[in-house]
Amino acid sequence: MALIKTPEEIKILAEGGKILAQILSKVAGAVRSGVSTLDLDTLAREEMKKAGVKPAFEGYQMGDDGPKFPAVLCSSVDHEVVHGIPRKDKILHEGEIVGLDLGIIHQGLFTDAAVTVGVGKVSSQDKNLMDGTEQALKAGIAQVKPGKRIGDIGHAIESCAKRTGLSVIRDLIGHGVGHALHEKPDVPNYGKPGTLEILKPGMVIAIEPMFTRGDWRVKFLDDGWTVVTADGSPSAHFEHTVAVAKDGHQVLTGII
Ligand code: MG
Repeated sequence: MALIKTPEEIKILAEGGKILAQILSKVAGAVRSGVSTLDLDTLAREEMKKAGVKPAFEGYQMGDDGPKFPAVLCSSVDHEVVHGIPRKDKILHEGEIVGLDLGIIHQGLFTDAAVTVGVGKVSSQDKNLMDGTEQALKAGIAQVKPGKRIGDIGHAIESCAKRTGLSVIRDLIGHGVGHALHEKPDVPNYGKPGTLEILKPGMVIAIEPMFTRGDWRVKFLDDGWTVVTADGSPSAHFEHTVAVAKDGHQVLTGII
């Protein structure tokens, strides 16, 4: 069962989400050839400190004895799908695409968002990949209102992928968020209309389509975190934290 947040909690989540959106936008604006992914992490860290919010990803542990995530930002380049670890020697090059995923804690409550941006000029195929994934996020969000179901969101996202000739990464999914980074319910990027949990006012979910131009299968790198496409195809990721409202939805990590 999804946790229902109170109107007071939604207000704090919206404040945190706005701060997160502003920081993510600054980090995205710093993407250029010659910059390292650690530079982006450092910028995110400084901005979070200035805003008085805490990182949600740093120290996050996969399982009970898994490795702890060592950075505040996930930076995933080209065929890296998600959870790329920022590194000093990971220098961005013209034509690459980089997924930037950031989570913060504001007054004890978590929000989560991601964008994928090009480094300088990117190929038309990669542009289509990024546009298609972002459109799918919008299509998924458009489904969010009381009475709709989690399966309606997944179906809308999957339909977008089919229309644009892209593949849905199936092993990684969206999630409830708020009191913790990952809560119930799971929010898959595929599904059947009218299935899975029913949406109710006060539910807060992170919707996060991940698409690739190639095959959807993924594997983990030896660092224990970075997820890459098995066939090496580039991948894009967009994410917003969204609250179910009485008469629709509120995108909590939007700038406006
Ligand atoms: Mg997420």
